[in-house]
Amino acid sequence: MELTRSQKEIQKAAQEFAKGEFDKEVTVELEQSRSYPAELLQKAAELGFVGLQFAEEYGGGGLGLVDACLVAEALCRKDSTMGSAVVLAAFGAECLHRFGDKKMKEQYLEQVTAGKMLAGIALGESDRGDDFTVLDTTATRSDNEWIINGKKRYVTNGGAAGFYLVLCRTEAKHAENSGVALILVEPDRPGITVADLGDKLALNSVALADITFADVRVPLTNLVGKEGQGLAQARAFLDEVKILAAARAVGIAAGAFDRALAYVKQREQFERKLAQFQITRHKIADMATKIELARLITYRAAADFDKGKADPTLSAMAKMTAARMAVEVADEAIQLFGGYGYMTEQEVERYYRDAKTIELCLGTRESQKDRIADLVIGKLK
Ligand SMILES: Cc1cc2nc3c(=O)[nH]c(=O)nc-3n(C[C@H](O)[C@H](O)[C@H](O)COP(=O)(O)OP(=O)(O)OC[C@H]3O[C@@H](n4cnc5c(N)ncnc54)[C@H](O)[C@@H]3O)c2cc1C
Repeated sequence: MELTRSQKEIQKAAQEFAKGEFDKEVTVELEQSRSYPAELLQKAAELGFVGLQFAEEYGGGGLGLVDACLVAEALCRKDSTMGSAVVLAAFGAECLHRFGDKKMKEQYLEQVTAGKMLAGIALGESDRGDDFTVLDTTATRSDNEWIINGKKRYVTNGGAAGFYLVLCRTEAKHAENSGVALILVEPDRPGITVADLGDKLALNSVALADITFADVRVPLTNLVGKEGQGLAQARAFLDEVKILAAARAVGIAAGAFDRALAYVKQREQFERKLAQFQITRHKIADMATKIELARLITYRAAADFDKGKADPTLSAMAKMTAARMAVEVADEAIQLFGGYGYMTEQEVERYYRDAKTIELCLGTRESQKDRIADLVIGKLK
């Protein structure tokens, strides 16, 4: 895909920002202390790297998903962890941007794009996996309020976000696509309990929590869009952010590859550079090819999205392909480093862990396959 001049400039600006601001020692410290890189987010936001695809009236860049993907890729390539933390600051805001009303967007999106607030979205529940058609979390109408009860699992930015979009069942029994709604819940409402999930495989600087809602009351006006649209909104949100996650995966793979390539060009064994051994050369060729293939499908999905032709099949394919590719490439990068690859200093072990996270979020690989098969096969007669 040919980038426009403005897209090339954005890509370059993101690369320069990452080069100047990311510091691997600081990343390790933040990961160890499980602290969010708030200062870094603020700087990234000042340069317009948060919410590039959001409308300018809400502080966004007024650009497209391709632009957002270019930034995500560039940031994650330089530092898989800090890049992911910056991209995930707005996780959920994409949904509010598409389906929230003007008042909600003014109140929350401007703060997210300014890097002053983290977003949160609570879709999944413990026994339901990625199937949001059956929900235990309920929202019951009472006079002018919704009363929310239930438990949501694995909420990114949980405990740190300035708002949560909570997927709830609003009818006792519901057919698919009816009786489900997304409701905005402010984190300081009485009845909310946040249980931080503690140490994780990766992304320890980004909070992950289970959130329980016990008779949490919010105004009826906190409904996002209309009642009955929640499931479609959640799916549309996932279709969008899967592309962004795929771009992160491409960046992570490219970052692991950069480091491995530099290493094999200088490391000598048996009086030859590693890059002179045919097995190494073939590994490098395979890695470069895999990255380029995943990049192609990711930007094709983003470009279609920007043209108003969002394709859920392509979005699931991009996320599934790019995440698997990133795990494989980062794994091979560790292998090429040999014992050094095992060490924090070389970073590739962290890239590997960050890549694996993408394969588990937003629906596992198996779940993407289910979605792709559903869309490709369609309804059987
Ligand atoms: C770091 C992180 C951040 C997250 N952030 C958020 C967030 O902000 N908001 C949110 O709502 N959720 C979030 N999640 C939840 C995430 O989207 C789900 O955990 C993920 O989609 C998998 O669901 P699960 O853990 O219930 O796995 P399960 O559904 O229990 O799956 C376990 C295994 O069984 C397989 N499996 C499941 N069903 C089938 C089937 N029908 N056929 C074959 N195999 C199957 C799966 O592929 C997987 O391998 C996050 C998760 C992680 C790890």
